[in-house]
Amino acid sequence: MELIDTHCHLTFPELVDDVEAVLQRSKAAHVTSWITVGTDTAENQKAIELAEKFDNLYVAAGIHPHEAKNVTNDDIKQLKKFAQNEKVVAIGETGLDFYYDFSTPADQIRLFATHLQIAAESNLPVIIHSRKSFEDTVDILDRHGAGVKKTLFHCFGYTTEKARTLLKKGFYISFTGSVTFKNAQKTCDAAKIVPAEKLMIETDCPYMSPEPMRRQKINEPALLIHIAKFLADLKKIPLENFAQTVTNNSRVFFNLPQKSSSPPLIYP
Ligand SMILES: [Zn+2]
Ligand SMILES: [Zn+2]
Repeated sequence: MELIDTHCHLTFPELVDDVEAVLQRSKAAHVTSWITVGTDTAENQKAIELAEKFDNLYVAAGIHPHEAKNVTNDDIKQLKKFAQNEKVVAIGETGLDFYYDFSTPADQIRLFATHLQIAAESNLPVIIHSRKSFEDTVDILDRHGAGVKKTLFHCFGYTTEKARTLLKKGFYISFTGSVTFKNAQKTCDAAKIVPAEKLMIETDCPYMSPEPMRRQKINEPALLIHIAKFLADLKKIPLENFAQTVTNNSRVFFNLPQKSSSPPLIYP
């Protein structure tokens, strides 16, 4: 069985000094590829340097909506450059977060639209972060996302009806450990109607360790297996089949190299 952690933050202080061990532990728990997500220019740079050191570690480059108020023209120039790097497989996370409101909606919307433009120009998929801002997020995607080929809503926490809206647009939806929490009925209901073919999984570590490991303060990719098991059970799909489907989705979505666990057959 192979799993891909489609959203982790390995460059954050909780994990960055221990990446080699973190990756080893996750390999022992079936996680064989990772996408580490940048949240500002310095993090994007660190993520690329890290990805250059490890096989099967890839980068999503973006500036988090929380940072929107601090973004300069130089940050945008850098982001366009990062998008050309061969380890960068997506633009994001980008989107809108009206829950924390660290940056004004106007600043967030402007930055989000710029990300969509860069994703379209560089022919990369986009990872969306959206909290308390569903209608606005969809509206910006409608108005500025026409050139973006593939869209993933990460850490989905909206309703079933909203999941249906995204599926109708052809978007993918990914779930974190938050779906395993005791108070996550709404997220579970949504996960039930997302076809496995449109679903991905992620830890979003170092945050939000999944049940039954929720008390582990620092989440890490090794815990992805708990999210896979939980969702496979919820959707009544054998774990192996579920893992194969979501891993395949992730490879196709991020255009990762196909990998087989056995060496290729050589014909005489
Ligand atoms: Zn996020
Ligand atoms: Zn994140």
